[in-house]
Amino acid sequence: MKWSGLKYLVVGAGLWGGVIAERIASVLGEPVVVLERRKHTGGNCHSFVDRRTGIECHAYGTHVFHTGIQRVWEYINRFAHFTSYRHKVLTEYRGRIYQMPISLPTINSFYGLNLRPYEVEDFILREAGGASPAAPCGQPANLEEKAVSLVGRPLYEAFIKGYTQKQWGRDPRDLPAEIINRLPVRANYNTDYFSDPWQGMPESGYAGLFEALLRHPKIQVELGVSWKDVADQVPASCRIFYSGPLDEFFDYALGALEWRGLRFENRLEPYRDVQGTAVLNQADGDVPFTRTHEYKHLHPERGAQGEQSILTREYPRAFSRGDEPYYPVNTPENERLMGLYRERLASGHPNMIAGGRLGGFRYMDMDKTIDFALSVFAGL
Ligand code: UDP
Repeated sequence: MKWSGLKYLVVGAGLWGGVIAERIASVLGEPVVVLERRKHTGGNCHSFVDRRTGIECHAYGTHVFHTGIQRVWEYINRFAHFTSYRHKVLTEYRGRIYQMPISLPTINSFYGLNLRPYEVEDFILREAGGASPAAPCGQPANLEEKAVSLVGRPLYEAFIKGYTQKQWGRDPRDLPAEIINRLPVRANYNTDYFSDPWQGMPESGYAGLFEALLRHPKIQVELGVSWKDVADQVPASCRIFYSGPLDEFFDYALGALEWRGLRFENRLEPYRDVQGTAVLNQADGDVPFTRTHEYKHLHPERGAQGEQSILTREYPRAFSRGDEPYYPVNTPENERLMGLYRERLASGHPNMIAGGRLGGFRYMDMDKTIDFALSVFAGL
């Protein structure tokens, strides 16, 4: 690596770092080095083709691109052609399959009713014991209160309580209400998982997308290299875009940020189709995994993709230092600690900006991460 005179360094080749590097190279015309400690680019959206079956697998669980932000959609379409895939999710509860998010088919099958869309609001209001989203009696203090106000207690207990408890390893009453805002609740037969107008899968997988994003000759990607390996060689004047966890950057000087970890268990199955859909959630609290991914369904345009299938079960687990951090646990205590690390960064490292899901300690989707990166670049 040539450090002398280097003006821009990006740490982490995920979406946030990748977009900033691409903008620096294409718009400013400046050389930029991208360090990535893993052996691949793409962060947690990374996908690869399994050699045995030819199936496009997602290394860190299903990532479907979806956005309502026009500038993000236009930007990302320069680097990939997106298919018209629209994500649907099913959930299993006590041996039966239901639509997720909670929508009219979920409500009707769960209660054995045939409610019409205009009857749902009053029905849920009765189930919620009077707390309605239209007329909330005070702000919900936590995830449970918010969820019960949206769908009533029986649906909450069936589809949200156990799943959330498993995913986060804590009682939903100890989690911020905002987490559940990610899930729409619908009084109709629209069973799309996301409400965003633009959705799809990169036709050539995320590896193809990142190959195009980082193709510019002024971008130099160094795989298997972490910040600590090079920190003492980077010129003091270099602008650094850091997308790793800030507590690790500061050697945990103020304490450790809390994350939720994941374990993925992959199986090759001797069937063309095992679960009939890309993602099947597991709502029962006593089943230790939260969902099963069957990746071939993410690319229906590729046909049956052979006589076998790959299934991946996702097990949430406690995070310990050295594990892969997945979900930031955005409780007030962790936010306070992150605020202290941000202050430390601003005062001691004026040339450095932290961002992305890890560097920002934010539970962000891919499109919000791109938007964040575009804003950072615009502010340079
Ligand atoms: N959730 C749930 N039941 C489900 C799916 C999601 O209770 O079947 C809740 C859970 O609290 C989760 C949140 O909704 O943390 C957001 O889910 P999402 O699918 O957006 O999570 P991600 O795909 O980011 O893991």
